Amino acid sequence: MLKENLQNLMHDIPAGVRLVAVSKTQPVQTIRAVYDAGQRIFGENKVQELIAKHPQLPKDIEWHFIGHLQRNKVKLIVPVAKLIHGIDSFKLLKEVNKEAGKIARKVNCLLQFHIATEETKFGLDCKEAVTILTSPEYREMKFVNICGVMGMATFTGDQSLIRQEFRHLRSFFLRLKETFFQESPDFKELSMGMSGDYRIAIEEGSTMVRIGTMIFGARE
Ligand SMILES: *Cc1c(COP(=O)(O)O)cnc(C)c1O
Repeated sequence: MLKENLQNLMHDIPAGVRLVAVSKTQPVQTIRAVYDAGQRIFGENKVQELIAKHPQLPKDIEWHFIGHLQRNKVKLIVPVAKLIHGIDSFKLLKEVNKEAGKIARKVNCLLQFHIATEETKFGLDCKEAVTILTSPEYREMKFVNICGVMGMATFTGDQSLIRQEFRHLRSFFLRLKETFFQESPDFKELSMGMSGDYRIAIEEGSTMVRIGTMIFGARE
C-alpha cells in the first residue's frame, strides 16, 4: 500500500516540485518501507521524535523539520535537519544562527508566513519579515541560509480561500526575492501544500509539498 500511495503521488506531482513525506507519528519500520520505495526526504514536527528516529534510519535521508520550533530545542535540531521550514520569529532565527555557529554548519531555513485565517497557526507577516531582512544583525549572520518561504492554508473546504492564501504566500515570496534575494539562487523554495490542498498549492507555484496522510494513511 505504502509503495502504491507513493507512486500514485509521484505521478501526480510535476518534476520541479519536491515531496516531503511527513512521517510524524509513524514508526521507523514504516518510514523504512517508504524509503525502500524510493523516498528520500522526510519531515517531522516534533524535536524528540526526529532525534529518536534519525539514528535508526539510513544516513542518506534528508530530514526536514516542519513544526513549530522552540528556541531551547534548536541545538538538537541544527545538527540533523537539512531544512528548517518554520522560522516564525527573529528570535528563533538568531538562535539557529548561534547554535549552527557552534558546530560551524550553515543551516537552511524557510521563513514561515501566517497566511491562514486561524489564529492558532504560527508565522510572520510581511512587515516582520522585512524587519528581519533589513536588520544589521541579520546581515551579519553567517550560519543561516534562507532558502524561501513556507505557509499553511486554513483548514477548510473552501477551495477559493485556500487558493487565495497560497497566492498571498507566493506574492510574499516574489516580493522578498526581488527586494532581498536577487543575487541568491538558493532563495527558491515555496513550501506549501499538504494532503488536502497540494494540487491547489502546485497550481499556485509550490516547489515543495509536505504530505503525510496521502502516503501513510490517517494518523491516530
Ligand atoms: C502534519 C503536517 C503536514 C502533513 O499533513 P497531511 O494532511 O497529513 O498531509 C504538513 N505540514 C505540516 C507543517 C504538518 O504539521
